[in-house]
Amino acid sequence: MNTLQQARAQVLQQIQQASTAAGRTAESVQLLAVSKTHPSEMLREMYAAGQRAFGENYLQESLDKIEALKDLEIEWHFIGHVQRNKTKHLASSFAWVHGVDRLIIAERLSSQREETQAPLNICLQVNIDAQDTKDGCQPNEVADLVAQISALPNLRLRGLMVIPAPNHPQAFTDAKTLFEQVKELHAKPEDWDTLSMGMSSDMTDAIAAGSTMVRVGTALFGARDYSK
Ligand SMILES: *Cc1c(COP(=O)(O)O)cnc(C)c1O
Repeated sequence: MNTLQQARAQVLQQIQQASTAAGRTAESVQLLAVSKTHPSEMLREMYAAGQRAFGENYLQESLDKIEALKDLEIEWHFIGHVQRNKTKHLASSFAWVHGVDRLIIAERLSSQREETQAPLNICLQVNIDAQDTKDGCQPNEVADLVAQISALPNLRLRGLMVIPAPNHPQAFTDAKTLFEQVKELHAKPEDWDTLSMGMSSDMTDAIAAGSTMVRVGTALFGARDYSK
């Protein structure tokens, strides 16, 4: 096995162990490979190892990779901060957008998604542990946003996405509680199936609390170099 194959096998094993410990099946947790800053050749190798879902944070970088890897059947997830003036490219080039935190962003994605494409999968980002950040809606805004966004055409509102502060497992439990509470407000409750939480350092806690999708970068690809 090469290094990337080995890293992926190790992460899958960790997911398996955490799921079993939580009384869940490993299939109930999807692995999203977070590939930001890594060159497309590395994604190609990870694809050869069996990985299909990749997460990117920076728009121009991700559009370049989508073009370079268009011969592969990759499911592209945008997990970065969504700027209002960048929604058009997200709507046309991605399968999932995790960082939606305002109605206006969802409305733009909905109107810019082509009817000929499959609906765009959306996660609502919540600032679950009151961090000092502009990203994510407040927990008390989630109910209204779920009711409004789930009624928009060309989108499938799949669930919540959170990025709690490190070493704060209670935030994962709070996210799970909120996720269950608002399901009945969804216009299509059967679409509400995704809790996007957990990264390299905290995926075990996230899975114990009910994560259905872990977003893992460093444990798969190694440390990121932002100097380039
Ligand atoms: C970069 C990033 C990750 C991956 O983090 P690692 O610690 O490298 O696993 C996950 N989620 C989001 C939103 C990120 O920006």
